Amino acid sequence: MNIILFGPPGAGKGTQAEILSKDLSIPTISTGAIIRGAVKEGTPMGLSAKKYMDGGALVPDEVVIGIIKERLAKDDCKNGFILDGFPRTVPQAEALDAMGVKIDVVVSLEVPDEAIVDRMSGRRVCKVCGATFHTIYNPSAKGEKCDVCDADLLIRDDDKPEVVLNRLVTYHKETEPLKEYYCGKGILKSVEGTNGVEATTELMKAALGI
Ligand code: AMP
Repeated sequence: MNIILFGPPGAGKGTQAEILSKDLSIPTISTGAIIRGAVKEGTPMGLSAKKYMDGGALVPDEVVIGIIKERLAKDDCKNGFILDGFPRTVPQAEALDAMGVKIDVVVSLEVPDEAIVDRMSGRRVCKVCGATFHTIYNPSAKGEKCDVCDADLLIRDDDKPEVVLNRLVTYHKETEPLKEYYCGKGILKSVEGTNGVEATTELMKAALGI
């Protein structure tokens, strides 16, 4: 199954993608995680992407489309994949169509802006493996250490309150129109994302018919 996880920043896409990825044995492809990896490694793409990310803006379409094209060509995507954070603009969705990639379902996680700001303040990311946690809603079993790989957990630079507000503005302006795009194709399923991690997983599985 080829799935897009859609929703505002902090809606829980990454957390749900990790769970579904294990359950369905298909990879999660997160453009945000790939870009953060490139920033950490200091590659030319990472260096140019950082300034957009740090301000809460989107990285240019041609950069992320290139990332996705390369990633989807890998063998592990043959039996399906979960896209987390891509597409984020209509041109990105059109590029996916132009690549001949067939999407089976787009799950839109619905979380209001007020809840997003609250959630972002507690979000933590493992600095080594990228696993995501939340101090209240999805804590690591090892406190401020990652319970997957034992490394330190960090607050993402772009989770600072002023950047979060910019990311929400960007989401409503550039990304939300995609709902109409996929609704028009008849593959959009909306799922309430405010009920906690496990309850949301159940709702998502029902929407996916699994
Ligand atoms: P995320 O981890 O999905 O919240 O992404 C973090 C940041 O990476 C975003 O705020 C953007 O700056 C950048 N980014 C990730 N995915 C995309 C995308 N599909 N298009 C443009 N920028 C993206």
